[in-house]
Amino acid sequence: MTKVPFFKSIHVKFTLMYVLLIVIAIQIISVYFIQQLEDRFKTNFQNSIIERVELLVYNVGQELSKASDTDPAEIDDNIEALVANFPTLNNAIREVQVIDSDGEVLVTRGNIDSGGERTNDVRVKQALLGSQDSDILRDPSNGDRLFVLAMPVLVSGKDTAIGAIYVEASMEEVYEQLTEINTILVTATIIALIITALLGVFLARTITRPMSDMRNHALIMARGDFSRKVKVYGDDEIGQLASAFNDLTRKLQEANAITEGERKKLSSILSFMTDGVVATDSDGMIILMNDRAEEMLNVSRQNVLGTSILKLFRLSEQMSWSEFYSGPESILLDFSDEEETYILRSSHSFILKEDGSINGLIAVLHDITEQEQIEEERREFVVNVSHELRTPLTTLKSYIEALQAGAWEDKELAPRFLAVLGDETDRMIRLVNDLLQLSKMDKNEYDFQIEEVEFIDYFNKIIDRFEMSKQETIDFVRDLQMNAAYVQIDKDKMTQVIDNIISNALKYSPEGGSITFRCWQQGKRLRISIIDEGVGIPKANLSKIFDRFYRVDRARSRQLGGTGLGLAIAKDIIHAHGGDIWAESEWGKGATISFTLPFKKMSGADYE
Ligand code: ADP
Repeated sequence: MTKVPFFKSIHVKFTLMYVLLIVIAIQIISVYFIQQLEDRFKTNFQNSIIERVELLVYNVGQELSKASDTDPAEIDDNIEALVANFPTLNNAIREVQVIDSDGEVLVTRGNIDSGGERTNDVRVKQALLGSQDSDILRDPSNGDRLFVLAMPVLVSGKDTAIGAIYVEASMEEVYEQLTEINTILVTATIIALIITALLGVFLARTITRPMSDMRNHALIMARGDFSRKVKVYGDDEIGQLASAFNDLTRKLQEANAITEGERKKLSSILSFMTDGVVATDSDGMIILMNDRAEEMLNVSRQNVLGTSILKLFRLSEQMSWSEFYSGPESILLDFSDEEETYILRSSHSFILKEDGSINGLIAVLHDITEQEQIEEERREFVVNVSHELRTPLTTLKSYIEALQAGAWEDKELAPRFLAVLGDETDRMIRLVNDLLQLSKMDKNEYDFQIEEVEFIDYFNKIIDRFEMSKQETIDFVRDLQMNAAYVQIDKDKMTQVIDNIISNALKYSPEGGSITFRCWQQGKRLRISIIDEGVGIPKANLSKIFDRFYRVDRARSRQLGGTGLGLAIAKDIIHAHGGDIWAESEWGKGATISFTLPFKKMSGADYE
């Protein structure tokens, strides 16, 4: 937040307002006061002159109304004495004239030397007619303000004035006094303004300080720090505002803690989720991604945040964002390459705003590679089974048709055809039995008859059985490096495994080749290897020979009567016994099929 400019701050505004109010108040008071004072001063001054003139009027009236036998010179002297004694009022009285009824100036005191002359003054004439007249004039010579008064001299018994008194008094002293008072008022106003301005600054501070405290506090709060409190300066409205602010801070802190807690919960849920989660904004730009999604999509969060989800899902060339969100809510993302199958399912839901428009999207990713592989295997399996059954059935059908067509009467052909029919039927029975066995094992219905067996003796007996029926050209080598080894096995099932391995070795062994039977202890396990010198298995196919229906040379295997299920069944049986089975070979250099079994015990330490 930017700093408030000096002249726009509440501090300055408040002080200015305060000073302005004081100025206006003083101004109004001063105008009214000066007006009143001026009126009062003027009235007082005029009244004091009028009172004195009235006294003079009375005395002059006495003199002028004296008996006609009185010496006029004495009367003049008396009037002169009266005028001379007329107070000067600090030299304010500038002119005093006594005028007789004819308008002749009898006595004068002052600047105008008009003794013996007739006066033309209208106010004097007015006074001689019996009414008093007064006015405030400006002295034309110096501009001074003058109070001019003409008062008739009236005596009882006479209707008309027997004379008049004319007085001129300077009012400058009154105005000087007013000017002095004005100066005092102006000085007082300036002093008052300085004091109020200082007080205003101080008062403004008492209001603005808590406010600027709150402003700073709000700025700190905006940065996420709720730990501080504003100082409460009093119980007034600002104090209450500060308390309310502190209360608000506390509540915000609590709300923030709750939100933070929820956020942490959500983020720990997201990070411990086994599914990947990706969230976007309304334009499909990634705003959130959990660890699992990073792992599943093999990307770094930093690199993909802010980029399009379509790009992340490798869909940007196939569809636009609007097509994506208006499309199905679940789509398959195939990230498979030549080496590896990798398929994810993205199920997405939208976060909607109150008005129903899209605010964002959340996509949950599931790894369905295994599921898809199982599905693919299932499909392959059905195709394989159908294929395996169709071949013998086609053979059966064609031989039966040949017999029906008359071959049954041919003594030479008929037994051969029937023998083929028997072989194909046997093969089908073998195939169906193998399939049934596999299906049982898939359902974990092993139904094993586990017993403790001395393996060396048991193994020797199996080899003996094969040795009796084998061709003479194939040599059997026994390399059994122990006297006795005890294992827990289902004898029939284990015999099926070993029979399958030995018959494969015999099938693929060339004439004059040898088959070696090796058996020895390897750690806590018994290891058995059957090594032949036959065609061998290409390295790339070594692990595949344990898959259902997998055969390196399909035609040859069929010719040799194999179903392609023998080693798949062997693998299941060995795994169910807690062992392992694998093949080692090189194309054309013979094959070694090995498996291990956990030991029960061993007699003697014949072989280390
Ligand atoms: P089959 O009934 O075809 O023998 P198996 O599951 O027993 O089925 O064997 C699968 C395939 O593994 C065989 O078709 C064959 O190609 C290969 N195989 C097994 N054992 C050997 C061996 N000793 N030498 C060479 N190839 C072998």
